[in-house]
Amino acid sequence: MTTRAWPAELLPPPVLGHTRVVGVIGWPVEHSVSPPMHNAALRALGLEWCYLPFPVRPEGLAEALRGARALGVRGLNVTVPHKQASLALMDALTPAARAIGAVNTVSFEDDRALGHNTDAEGFLSALAAVGCDPRGCDALVLGAGGAARAVVYALAGAGARLTLLNRTPERAAALAAELAPGAAVAPLDAASLRRYSPGAALVVNTTPLGMWPHAEGTPWPAEVAFPGGALCYDLVYNPRETRLMRLARTAGAAASDGLGMLVHQGAAALRLWTGLAPPVAAMFAACTHVLGGS
Ligand code: NAP
Repeated sequence: MTTRAWPAELLPPPVLGHTRVVGVIGWPVEHSVSPPMHNAALRALGLEWCYLPFPVRPEGLAEALRGARALGVRGLNVTVPHKQASLALMDALTPAARAIGAVNTVSFEDDRALGHNTDAEGFLSALAAVGCDPRGCDALVLGAGGAARAVVYALAGAGARLTLLNRTPERAAALAAELAPGAAVAPLDAASLRRYSPGAALVVNTTPLGMWPHAEGTPWPAEVAFPGGALCYDLVYNPRETRLMRLARTAGAAASDGLGMLVHQGAAALRLWTGLAPPVAAMFAACTHVLGGS
């Protein structure tokens, strides 16, 4: 994370006696971009709220959620490794959280903990922001882990035709059976990419390949042509341009990193907690300040 001076508009609002608290629980949580992103948003909204990082060990999750409620915390984001374990600790779940099998946002309403998942909505908003409407399009999803579940749920709901490629194809088959019946499934290798990528309008990387500090990684071997008419959406956002994105751009395709999804899932959480329209530009500015890029 940068130690550069923070512009005043990105600083957290002052903490007062009536300040409301929101935050993120994860283990570890030090590298989360959510605190600067949300505090910049709270400032832009003029709210006397504060967003804090809470490192919570796996064995402390239930106690942390009970404690947050008792302390009057308005809501929490939930990150690795607590997204699945939080499901059973909620008083109610949204259909998206139930289907995806993960909670990424909690709102405390009266004495109830409501579990939401804003990743799918954030992903679709990020696609829309780069001019992509997945309805009826051929989409290739690389990976079948936790992030892929939100992406597949979103794309299936939007009416895309899906192909799921994963290192462990059985996991992709289980994901397809659950969330996208009718999707094609194959191993993530050069032969499958050659077979399934021509004609794809959207390629989504949900694997961590290419992510810092292993930026040399890529799910797409250089000898396989990338479909030039596709949008490459890489969920990785650190670095801001991955090897996969470079390959796609060289082939003439459009490419986006995953910062849009991160910002829009955060924006959806903020809307749930505050009822206000989230200041997306301020959230991007804070993330860009932290991560670099534009
Ligand atoms: P995960 O549950 O651990 O799943 C990882 C997936 O990548 C699995 O399908 C795994 O295949 C595959 N994979 C891992 N290493 C691989 C390798 N060396 N070769 C081929 N495939 C490999 O992780 P996750 O929570 O889904 O997160 C995945 C990525 O998405 C991370 O980079 C994360 O930061 C990013 N993400 C971004 C956002 C955003 O808002 N932009 C949101 C969520 C996640 P197997 O099934 O064979 O193990």
